[in-house]
Amino acid sequence: MEETRRFVQRVARRGGYVVNPDSEHTEHLIDGLNRNVNRLGYYACPCRDASGDRKTDRDICCPCVYNEPDQEEYGHCFCALFLSRDFVESGKTPRQIPERRPAEKWT
Ligand code: SF4
Repeated sequence: MEETRRFVQRVARRGGYVVNPDSEHTEHLIDGLNRNVNRLGYYACPCRDASGDRKTDRDICCPCVYNEPDQEEYGHCFCALFLSRDFVESGKTPRQIPERRPAEKWT
């Protein structure tokens, strides 16, 4: 878990994001990422069903390819693990956002 926590902090630092301050939500997601890395060998998104094939799941390896456009449009990623600074400063709280991953990739 500690390694996964460090991973999340690293992603946030590199992207200039804020890790969701809702610690219960964030711990749940970190636990999901940790399970995925132990089970699959890579950090598959904890909010999506991974196929187990790294190539197929490349788009949902955290930080997923949908993260940037979701940050731009909604101020946070699909899981609401990473929030933009502007979003946090606005005082808004994350909400359910549309799945940007094409339906044909859902498993
Ligand atoms: S939505 Fe993307 S950036 Fe957010 S936790 Fe899932 S894989 Fe990571």
